[in-house]
Amino acid sequence: MARAVSARRRRARALVRDAGADALLVTNPKDVRYLTGFHGEDSWAVLSPRSITVISDFRFQEELASVSGVKVAIRSGPIEEAAAEVLPPAGPVAIQAEHMSVARRRRLGRLVGATRLRETTGLIAGLRAVKDEHEIALIRRAVRAQERALVETLDTLKPGVRERDLAAQLEHRMKALGAEGPSFDTIVAAGANASKPHHRLGGARVRASRPVLIDWGAVVGGYCGDMTRVFCLGRWPARLREVYEVVLDAHEAGVAAVGPGKKCAAVDAAARAVIERAGLGPMFGHGLGHGVGLDIHEAPRLARASADTLEAGMVVTIEPGVYLPGVGGVRIEDDVVVTARGARRLSRLPKAIDWASR
Ligand code: ZN
Ligand code: ZN
Repeated sequence: MARAVSARRRRARALVRDAGADALLVTNPKDVRYLTGFHGEDSWAVLSPRSITVISDFRFQEELASVSGVKVAIRSGPIEEAAAEVLPPAGPVAIQAEHMSVARRRRLGRLVGATRLRETTGLIAGLRAVKDEHEIALIRRAVRAQERALVETLDTLKPGVRERDLAAQLEHRMKALGAEGPSFDTIVAAGANASKPHHRLGGARVRASRPVLIDWGAVVGGYCGDMTRVFCLGRWPARLREVYEVVLDAHEAGVAAVGPGKKCAAVDAAARAVIERAGLGPMFGHGLGHGVGLDIHEAPRLARASADTLEAGMVVTIEPGVYLPGVGGVRIEDDVVVTARGARRLSRLPKAIDWASR
């Protein structure tokens, strides 16, 4: 693990050099975790050519003493002042434009000299898109935990159960199975609510012959899983049964299109074509998928307008959906890792409509 983290720092230093800077001030907490293994609130890191220093406070002092390969600066004053002391005394400093407020940038500029600051975007995000084996193993464990939790929760999927009670069960079981928590607010959408891709939980009840869409994820070791399944208790409404088969075909076409060197827009198009051929194109109003990792949504983006290209080691979701207002919706989402030859699914739960009929 320590070797993997130092390899990440080596790659990050090369990017910082390419950006024309000597050091990088890391202000995104997920990037601090990625480059050091440490995660705590209100903590930054300075990546210099030969070392990395975590800037934190008393709350994390003891924890930081056991993090190998990093220097530690415990601050008692403002974080910008502590950063100014750790940063090299001269030369350009890269900052993370997406992860620093205008006010903080101004204060830092006053302390170290505003002309030394170089704005960068997506530097570490680009590295994080390609996972090492430790990261893939953690995502797989998150997926296992959420899959087992769902299977256990299916016992309670009965007519009359409320959306929020199903979500609470699922989240409780994920934690009982070793997850740190849900990777995002669990979506349980009963009946016509399933036509809203990001329905907010409520007291609606599951009913016979109506769909229930569950989009859920677990976090293990900081890494997120993300899956969606749709169930129906008893007979499927005829229209939704057709839609289910189309979405499942689109999902399989999307997974089949995944491979190293493939354009993300082309993978989106492969799945979207199946839905368009069925005349349902306008009902698939979002992108096909996204990277998952320390963040639930990260690079790359699988969408029509994406300029990203897949590389071996990326972990992405494939989640086509069709939404019929007033009726319900179907989305089927799995997590896949891009391999040298194509794609390997990390999720194992079935998807056939027989399994989705309860
Ligand atoms: Zn999802
Ligand atoms: Zn997703």
